[in-house]
Amino acid sequence: MKIINLTKIYQIKNGEPVKALDDVSFDLPNKGMVFLLGKSGSGKTTLLNLLGGLDTFDGGDIVFGNKSLKNFTSSELDSFRNTCCGFVFQDYNLLPEFTVAENVALSLEIQSKQASKEEISQALKSVDLEGYENRKITELSGGQKQRISIVRALVKTPDVIFADEPTGALDSNTGDDILNLLKQLSKTKLVVVVSHDREFALKYADRIIELKNGKIISDTEKDFEEKQPKAWQMQKSGMPFKAAVKIGMSSFKLHPIKLVATVLLAVLTFVIFGTFLTATLTEQNVVTINSLADKGVNVAVYNKTVAIKDDGKMNAKFCNADLTVL
Ligand code: ADP
Ligand code: MG
Repeated sequence: MKIINLTKIYQIKNGEPVKALDDVSFDLPNKGMVFLLGKSGSGKTTLLNLLGGLDTFDGGDIVFGNKSLKNFTSSELDSFRNTCCGFVFQDYNLLPEFTVAENVALSLEIQSKQASKEEISQALKSVDLEGYENRKITELSGGQKQRISIVRALVKTPDVIFADEPTGALDSNTGDDILNLLKQLSKTKLVVVVSHDREFALKYADRIIELKNGKIISDTEKDFEEKQPKAWQMQKSGMPFKAAVKIGMSSFKLHPIKLVATVLLAVLTFVIFGTFLTATLTEQNVVTINSLADKGVNVAVYNKTVAIKDDGKMNAKFCNADLTVL
């Protein structure tokens, strides 16, 4: 997803227009967890809504795949929202008087798809809410409601999940559960999380885009080596080779038997691998024909070609095929 010079202006009835997004440009990857961080009023929700096609913009463009959202027809925009994007909101946006199963099914019915009972129970299982199909939304805790709203987003198998303050109404432990779940999902799809909570962002994000007054003030990727806030840098880094060897050797120091077993296993692996290589690389047909020649067989049909003894040896350069001794 490419965001190019995106601008959003809200017209106020009796007042100055509000520039909620001011010339914002950045790219989003296909997977990973990206946090949009900023104080209240900085433009996070506005940006998220534009990315998910929930609102229109006044300048710039969003390119999804090879298509520009600006040029989407209204039915293309509907399909983008309904099939490519999953939404998770702070206040869940579930239908409170309906059951869990009905809420989840509705998400698919919007796409003119039917959800089988199997599919729904499988989806509920994935968020540890197996058997909750017939519960009413009003009979669930906040964390459970949020997990249902994640299921509702997931059954659409979207490319991107947009979550606006998904932990805003939850206590911090339940918030951790939800962010862990979203983090899990971000291994295979893009998850964009809006949050004002720097601590959560530092803990879970692969990348933090910080907004202030409708502008990006920083865009950082996580340094995977350390967990301190200072470790946020523009480039990624890995474990140095020396450190990796040290850590590896320290385990052997503690367990000498482990070292002997590892060496034996390595030798065994090399022997097996070597034998296997010799067996496969030595042309089977050469071996077979030469051994036939040794036994005094003069002529054989090999791959429909007649091999004739030449200077006391058979010409054995043939491809694999059935061998018939004449
Ligand atoms: P955040 O999600 O970071 O709290 P928002 O994106 O909701 O910020 O809002 C950004 C700015 O746009 C704020 O100044 C807010 O008052 C204004 N704004 C948001 N939505 C509307 C709206 N529907 N009409 C007018 N102004 C709005
Ligand atoms: Mg907001």
